[in-house]
Amino acid sequence: MKKISIVIPVYNEEKNIPLIYAELQKVFAGCANEYILDILFVNDGSSDNTIGEIEKLGQINQNVRCIDFSRNFGKEVATTAGLNECQGDACIMLDGDLQHPVELIPDFIAKWEKGAEVVVGIRNENKSSGMFKKIGSAIFYKIINRIAEIEIIPNATDYRLLDRVVIDEFNRFTETNRMTRALVDWLGFRRAYIYFDANERIHGNASYNFWKLFKLAINSFVSLSLFPLQLAGNLGIVITLISGLAGSYILLGKYFFHTPFASTFSDSENLAILLVFLVGIILISIGLLALYIANIHKEVINRPMYIVRKKKI
Ligand code: UDP
Ligand code: MG
Repeated sequence: MKKISIVIPVYNEEKNIPLIYAELQKVFAGCANEYILDILFVNDGSSDNTIGEIEKLGQINQNVRCIDFSRNFGKEVATTAGLNECQGDACIMLDGDLQHPVELIPDFIAKWEKGAEVVVGIRNENKSSGMFKKIGSAIFYKIINRIAEIEIIPNATDYRLLDRVVIDEFNRFTETNRMTRALVDWLGFRRAYIYFDANERIHGNASYNFWKLFKLAINSFVSLSLFPLQLAGNLGIVITLISGLAGSYILLGKYFFHTPFASTFSDSENLAILLVFLVGIILISIGLLALYIANIHKEVINRPMYIVRKKKI
């Protein structure tokens, strides 16, 4: 029998724990002789009775396990801990707030059995989500797909199934500043997709507010791309070119060709152009530094150079 680990990061979800457990039991009751259900909660420093609820379940079912963080470390880290510890032949990452429809799990498993190594849940466009969030996420995906080396699919969620090969490769990442789903995308492997409508949250509040999302977005830019670093350098090149051309035009026009237009520039205007030119040079130098920092950054995050599916020798 194959073991399926369900990894659930939870932060202040005391009311949702019994509900999600009941739903999982219901779904897996249908295939109890094919798959063993293994539930791994990661309690991300909840301040309510989340841990008590999990322990209660642990007493009636020994397939319910828990990693209890000493404080709140964030969902990305909680999911990572779950992936590090889970033992299944495949694992499914699931939100603890019932927004990811549990009844689709058999579809995820079916795609996996057909050979997909990563099954990604994609949320259908949410009509109820605010204008602000919609525009924000549209801009985010535009920018990230421009500058990142891998393609990030809009509305792809953390609701995913990962094969054991993928989990083992994922566990080799050492970077601390991370976005789980982007790392999974970076790994590659055979993928399949499942589209779903996100449920409304019944209990508790979404803990991702604007600033948390903004921080996550900036973090992903920085961890997935070196573009922000190179921006200064490119800007410097443009500024230096324009002011250099303008400066040469004025200098040559005034003292060699005596064109009337070049002579109309006053000394302070000439000085301004000179200053802009120098600022451009400084920006280019920053850009050069950025290239070196980029190299260091690449070495420090220490990503594996390549990912192997299977070795056939
Ligand atoms: N979560 C977590 N740590 C946090 C914030 C959230 O483990 O610091 C969990 C939360 O309990 C839930 C999942 O991550 O199971 C998604 O969180 P939320 O519903 O707040 O985010 P959204 O649905 O807005 O993406
Ligand atoms: Mg949610």
